[in-house]
Amino acid sequence: MSTQIYDRITLIGLGLIASSMALAIKRAGLAGRVVGYDRDADVCETAREIGLCDEISDSLHSAVQEADLVVLCVPVGAMGEVAAAMAPALKAGATVSDVGSVKQAVIDAVTPHIPENVHFIPAHPIAGTEHSGPAAGFAELFDNRWSLIVPTEGSDETAVAQLQHLWEGMGANVSVMDAGHHDLVLAVTSHTPHLIAYTMVGVADDLRRVTDSEVIKYSAAGFRDFTRIAASDPTMWRDVFLSNKEATLEILGRFTEELFALQRAIRTGDGDTLHDYFTRTRAIRRGIIDAGQDTDAPDFGRGSKVGSKA
Ligand code: NAP
Repeated sequence: MSTQIYDRITLIGLGLIASSMALAIKRAGLAGRVVGYDRDADVCETAREIGLCDEISDSLHSAVQEADLVVLCVPVGAMGEVAAAMAPALKAGATVSDVGSVKQAVIDAVTPHIPENVHFIPAHPIAGTEHSGPAAGFAELFDNRWSLIVPTEGSDETAVAQLQHLWEGMGANVSVMDAGHHDLVLAVTSHTPHLIAYTMVGVADDLRRVTDSEVIKYSAAGFRDFTRIAASDPTMWRDVFLSNKEATLEILGRFTEELFALQRAIRTGDGDTLHDYFTRTRAIRRGIIDAGQDTDAPDFGRGSKVGSKA
């Protein structure tokens, strides 16, 4: 039985997410043809060399003009500009989607450019690593991860269902969510933790009493995990914070209050508060493992592949 969901899928921005999608789509035979486009000629060359798609197009217009589904896989801050540039070439009845880590800002930037006869259905796979570029992708990236679909007002139900089947075919579990809620949830689960990791690694770098070699040599699991997260793509994360400003600031405010409370408990020797707090957080970790979203193995069993999720 054929598992093909779209005749032709075009992926724009051939980085980690697009390359993983191309491989996952190929693995399950979800498209008749996968076309790729990137503004960077070197990226296109690498994608051709590794046979990432059935075709790598030299122009944005030729890449999208026959596509049934176009997925924007560029940084959040570039979504609007790419949508504007490709809009005149889109086929009537096509669906445009994206994989951006922030949803309301992408909806605001992209929607004005989408022609009336084209569906726009934003999405966000909660799966990633700290690696970038067309060679970073792997077909299993989305397996048993969540992909959130964020329909806009009046989204066509058939087109939403088709996109949902695509993500399920790539191995993901799918949930439908509104943009505001998505941005708040991700501020808690991904965006603020990334900012904290960036800060912690920056602090270690500032502490000149601890030499670079000591930071590397004695890096314990906590700090090692921070450094992995803090190695994530600078452009992508700059855009995430600039476009999910309100929710991130709200969560950072709460984080700062909790940090002060723990700081006070340490200063005053209030062991009960610390113990109760750590007992509560341990239960959250257990819940994540029970939900199959991480492993209990030492070093979180991550090896080199599965890493930060935006
Ligand atoms: P990536 O590996 O850095 O790839 C992005 C690609 O898009 C790069 O090749 C970049 O080229 C290209 N690009 C940038 N602007 C472009 C434009 N105007 N036209 C065409 N191509 C353009 O990024 P990624 O990690 O795959 O992330 C892509 C999207 O997925 C982002 O929106 C991100 O928020 C989202 N996302 C990421 C993760 C994650 O963990 N990495 C997880 C879920 C969702 P240049 O190098 O020339 O800029």
